Amino acid sequence: MTKFIIITGGVLSGLGKGVVTSSLGKLLKARGFSVTSIKIDPYLNCDAGTMNPFEHGEVFVLKDGTEVDLDLGNYERFLDTDLIGKDNITTGKVYRTVIEKERAGDYLGKTVQIIPHITDEINRRIWEVAEETEVDIVLIELGGTVGDIESMPFLEAVRQLHMDVGEEENNALFIHTTLVPVLDVVGEQKTKPTQHSVKALREIGIEPDVVVGRSKNKLEESTKKKISLFCDVPEKAVISSPNAKSIYRVPLILQKEGLTECVMEGLNLSEVLEQKEDLSVEKVHRMDEWKGFLERFENPTSKIDIALVGKYCDLEDAYVSHEQALNHCRAKTKTKINIKYLESEDLEGKDCSEKHLGDVDGLLIPGGFGDRGVEGKIDALNYARKNDLPTLAICLGFQLSVVEFARNVLGYDEAHSYEFDEKTPDPVIHLLPMQRGIDQMGGTMRLGAEEIEIKEGTKVHEIYGSTEINERHRHRYEVNLDYKDELESHGMVFSAQSPNGKRMEMLELEDHPFFIGCQFHPEFQSRPMKPAPLFLEFVNSMLEQDDGESG
Ligand code: GLN
Repeated sequence: MTKFIIITGGVLSGLGKGVVTSSLGKLLKARGFSVTSIKIDPYLNCDAGTMNPFEHGEVFVLKDGTEVDLDLGNYERFLDTDLIGKDNITTGKVYRTVIEKERAGDYLGKTVQIIPHITDEINRRIWEVAEETEVDIVLIELGGTVGDIESMPFLEAVRQLHMDVGEEENNALFIHTTLVPVLDVVGEQKTKPTQHSVKALREIGIEPDVVVGRSKNKLEESTKKKISLFCDVPEKAVISSPNAKSIYRVPLILQKEGLTECVMEGLNLSEVLEQKEDLSVEKVHRMDEWKGFLERFENPTSKIDIALVGKYCDLEDAYVSHEQALNHCRAKTKTKINIKYLESEDLEGKDCSEKHLGDVDGLLIPGGFGDRGVEGKIDALNYARKNDLPTLAICLGFQLSVVEFARNVLGYDEAHSYEFDEKTPDPVIHLLPMQRGIDQMGGTMRLGAEEIEIKEGTKVHEIYGSTEINERHRHRYEVNLDYKDELESHGMVFSAQSPNGKRMEMLELEDHPFFIGCQFHPEFQSRPMKPAPLFLEFVNSMLEQDDGESG
């Protein structure tokens, strides 16, 4: 029997509910349970693919090509697992199914309503994940805040789920994450917002079993007592989650606060453990490895500076997977990696690149869409190519490396990507053939993990140590094969391609210490204990250069 943990949020959005969920998943996995997680996003979009990173942060891509909220990236990284599209439920997906069924006549004669039709569809999707994965525990994080109109059908659905799986049998547990603010004037931790949001939950029939109080500092004993009394949860089920130095500390903080015990007790999980055969200590993945990771992460012995030239730099969440991939490298190499976020528009113009990139150790160009700032990225790539600056250029970055090379090495002054200039005489980057005739925007790019073949003897062959890899994609344009031979004859090596040889997947420059571009997104598959190979070698190449200079 699958058990469910439902995590809701109160008072404010952006409390780090996703990190609490991922951390709890990590702790439960470390105890030997199989775990998966579902993220519910109450917005009407079917998926996150059509949302602007400025508004919503990075769009994460799962291996099956579903474009999702960045929280699922955190789940994958913390749980070291690959999720699929079904693990993300949005209002758009739910309503679309119900409306399609209504049109097909599945509810013939009935009035189709939010309760029971929408709520049933929500629960059908939750059960589908539980049954297909057959895990011990499904974590369900409900996005948004209790009280939001959009969240209502989901709260009602999980209330029913709780009732259906049997209250007495301890098969479902509610965790409510709220904010415990401090008013500067008095310096006292205030519990009223928590009381109000728990009250709102109880009005709809949900009684939280655990309250996680997010606060600047640890919750004081008196604060815990108050929350316990007013919210009707035992004192030991009031968990303090103060601001942490890094998200990687959160699992250990929550463990120390007794969250795992609370959940074990609340769901009767020791019974589940007893039924597990062959659960030897060695088989159980304890937290030691994680602690080792944290120890290396928190005690760097060297330092490098990387310029990330992007378009959404004002919102750090827009590049969260890049940042995390670099964090994984930080722990592996014990190197403090300082990311200098640069708006690509600021690099447009004479000598701008020199000014901004003159003092960094490496250049990272992430993916992107739209023509704003494109010339700044091209200038930055030009500077990095000529000045031996280690460079990792991802997706749009990869495409613009080809544009830069075509303009400045092949001498095609007006070369461009068809995405930005449909009239260019040299469209070195053009539309993917399968994209022709597609006019719908949602979920129509080349998306998800695909096989890639690496050429032997290339730098990336050495990096990956394999000729066959699998990486995730998200793009509409690609290298125009008409220019391939000419680019290659001038020193640009296409070191990886699709198995049919039609899609160029990676490039590297001969005569450069580290200049690698990739059409796919290596950042999506980076994990704390397994940094993405391209990121890791990018970092290593900077460290080598540093050594060379100081030595
Ligand atoms: N805009 C480019 C394309 O669609 C690059 C996409 C990306 O960087 N993710 O091909």
